[in-house]
Amino acid sequence: MRVRRASGGREGELVRRAATLRESVEPLLPKLGRACPPDRFDRLRSELEEVREAREDDHRLDRMRRWGEPLPRALAGLLKFYLDPELPALVVARFPSGEVPYAPLAKTSHEAEIAVQTGADPERLLLGYLEWARKGFHFFAADASLVCTGPDPAPPEEFKARQLARLSYRVGPDGDGRLRCPHLVAGEHVPSLSVGWPAAGTTVTVCRRCAKGDRHLLSEMSARMAIPDPESAFPVAVSLEVKCTGPDDCPHRYLPELPRGLRKAYHFGKLADRELLDRYEEEVRPLLERSRAPILVAAGVCYGADRARFIDALRPTAEERTALESVLPEVGGLFEIDEAAASRALEKLWPEHAETIVAAIVPDPERAARLVREAKAAPGRVSELLHRAAKASRERETLDALPAYEALAPEAAFLDAIARAFRSQGAKAAEKALFDRLPREGKERGLAFGLLIVLGRDAAHAWQFTDTERTFGRSLAAALAPLLQDPAAAYDAAMARALGAAGVTDWGRRI
Ligand SMILES: [Zn+2]
Ligand SMILES: [Zn+2]
Repeated sequence: MRVRRASGGREGELVRRAATLRESVEPLLPKLGRACPPDRFDRLRSELEEVREAREDDHRLDRMRRWGEPLPRALAGLLKFYLDPELPALVVARFPSGEVPYAPLAKTSHEAEIAVQTGADPERLLLGYLEWARKGFHFFAADASLVCTGPDPAPPEEFKARQLARLSYRVGPDGDGRLRCPHLVAGEHVPSLSVGWPAAGTTVTVCRRCAKGDRHLLSEMSARMAIPDPESAFPVAVSLEVKCTGPDDCPHRYLPELPRGLRKAYHFGKLADRELLDRYEEEVRPLLERSRAPILVAAGVCYGADRARFIDALRPTAEERTALESVLPEVGGLFEIDEAAASRALEKLWPEHAETIVAAIVPDPERAARLVREAKAAPGRVSELLHRAAKASRERETLDALPAYEALAPEAAFLDAIARAFRSQGAKAAEKALFDRLPREGKERGLAFGLLIVLGRDAAHAWQFTDTERTFGRSLAAALAPLLQDPAAAYDAAMARALGAAGVTDWGRRI
């Protein structure tokens, strides 16, 4: 607490509050629910009334502010201040919800002084009844008034609705009275924190994606109320929310509940929501990691050691599947990814299993080793790398299947180059290779125009050719098509036919 000089405004507020309480002490009493026995409150009312009746007697008020119950004492102090409003030095009381200034006007608790001086706000009036809650009463600070339900823990309906609507997390009903975050409502398997409120017939659950490191769901749910045993009134639970489709002895089926130490720390506000979830995961992770049999988990679904189902769930491309099938048998114990995507799995496996992954896609060991070195020097997305490697391997296979030649005539070398570019890399690459190698004159120009006709690109480039070249090209197109399209085994025959049509004899030797 620290001392602060009162402002004129503050003094005026105290005088106005005293004037109200000189009229009636009712604003200091809660509204009683049906289950609440009224006798204790009747007794308090008459004690407060006794103080009010002495409102003009400075001397009696001075005595009354030193003796008796906390609230009547605080009232006596305020009414005495009304008779002689000299500037009081304000004191600040600290609560978990923030600082509250008040004027020390009586010999009583600061809660009682705050309740009497600022109790027009039901949340402040609540402070005057904290002691009563310890004796079995339940108090709820609704928007308009403080309500006491006595021994009945059920909150007033209106209070409950308001309390849940004020939660800082976005939660919605899931059909059976419970409130859950959108991810859990959508059926995602993400670790979750639940705070139950059995007296209100509800539970609020948020997932780790929602849980924040600076929020405390339990405090939000139990705010604005004073009850006998908050710890058992709001049971806290944490779950990994894993859907285990693994074997009956999978550790997921035997995970412990929230340990007592963590539960206590959370109850005392020493752990925020996110921290509690993280600490619980740290606690149970070793139990899963200890397993010798593989435990494969993707997006919160456990497949046990069933690699085939796990890989299917990741919806891999052909090369990702090949890589996963070769590398997963090397993986033991817990292997978990938060998203059911093959690229995620491969990225996680990459640092330890790069060689196995690449070897599955690139058969040539030397090229595979080079690729691993390159990838480690410039890390990128593993799936992209595999995609590129697979493409390169396919191109190489395509080219290796074609016959090799020596002593090719210029026309034959030209045709062979364009055909190889087309077969390994597609039409665009073929078109580019064609113009890169196109001479200023010679039979190649007619062959080039013929190839452009086969590629469907003759119209776009017609202006680059003479009439003679175009006519020659048109006459060759039918003989050129098989060079691009026939199977590799017919390639040599296609070369011979195309060059024969162009009148080129003695065009080269097959090795
Ligand atoms: Zn969520
Ligand atoms: Zn499991």
